[in-house]
Amino acid sequence: MSVKLPIYMDHQATTPVDPRVLEAMLPYYREKFGNAASRNHAFGREASDAIEAARRQVAHLVNAEDPEEIVFTSGATESNNLAIKGVAGMFRERGTHIVTSQIEHKSVLDTAKYLETRGFRLAYLPVDREGIVDIEALREAISRNTILISIMHANNEIGTIQPIDEIGKMARERSVFFHCDLAQTAGKIPVDVRAMAIDLAGISAHKLYGPKGVGALYVRKRNPRVRLSPQIHGGGHEGGLRSGTLNVPAIVGFGRACEIAEEEMQEESKRILRLREKLRNELIRRLGDVHVNGSLKHRLPGNLNISFSNVEGETLLTEISEEIAVSSGSACSSATLEPSYVMKALGVSEALSHTAIRFGLGRWNTEAEIDYTIERVAAVVGKLRLASPIYASERSQ
Ligand SMILES: *Cc1c(COP(=O)(O)O)cnc(C)c1O
Repeated sequence: MSVKLPIYMDHQATTPVDPRVLEAMLPYYREKFGNAASRNHAFGREASDAIEAARRQVAHLVNAEDPEEIVFTSGATESNNLAIKGVAGMFRERGTHIVTSQIEHKSVLDTAKYLETRGFRLAYLPVDREGIVDIEALREAISRNTILISIMHANNEIGTIQPIDEIGKMARERSVFFHCDLAQTAGKIPVDVRAMAIDLAGISAHKLYGPKGVGALYVRKRNPRVRLSPQIHGGGHEGGLRSGTLNVPAIVGFGRACEIAEEEMQEESKRILRLREKLRNELIRRLGDVHVNGSLKHRLPGNLNISFSNVEGETLLTEISEEIAVSSGSACSSATLEPSYVMKALGVSEALSHTAIRFGLGRWNTEAEIDYTIERVAAVVGKLRLASPIYASERSQ
């Protein structure tokens, strides 16, 4: 079976817009162009009704009690900023200590660092070799001065899933707000903000087959109610938490994407997991000396982050990415040669960090694409290993 090149296998970076999502959006770029704040006329009401329908769809995906707990934003970066700075600003009198982890997304880590310049004290919890936060370390980190815990659900580089139930439970017992970055999990694996005792959660549409530049922040309204200081001031949209004219077509698409994800998640995750396991097993069988970075058990179905020993990392990625769109599993940004902070936190050696590749499988990856990827990666790694002096000398001993 032939495959169309290049193959897209970088779904943790972004996902294509589902055609059904685009269909739902188009009328709101054409005849239904009203401003959702103009409820005094038909155009505005039509837009506003569409926003409220999308709000219900997003709320339903994460099992929020009330759709009004969903605040639309420009994406998970903004949502995470609003959650963390919003709590910090509102509850500064109660405490100035915030607990997070070393492997959070930059939108959390850089916000945390910013707050340090504003007099807050931050604790960055380590993770074990599997990439999982230590619950006991969390328990010890919480003090009477702690106002917020911010721990992500699944990591974007290595796909590891944190024990969110336990973290939520502990946060609730200690009366500390719990913010969880759901950008990688909403729409991929079940998320339940009530069962998980999550108080604030960032979601991004473009990670779940919706458009870019739109997302949401879940803000709990009851038991406990979370008040936030807004970060953007203006017309008082979104309950005063996020002013600015709403991006109606994008929000409509986001809502539809959540609905589709909810309907198809169970089957889709099974299918993707089977493909990922085929990819993993075949690469190990053919190449040996392959290291999976992070827990295999507690991992997103669509993520495989692996390192290949005895190859030159840059060359490997360059050769593979001509035909297969993957991400370097290690570089912070492709511009730097420093191993990523996530790999460092895991304790992965520098050599293996440099050969890490992140395969991100998604909705439209086919079996034929997986087969092609296995062949290509095996061929490239095999060739580079033969050319590697270290590998050659090890084999001759
Ligand atoms: C993509 C991502 C974000 C940022 O989301 P944007 O909508 O692109 O701003 C935040 N956290 C995680 C874990 C992500 O994967």
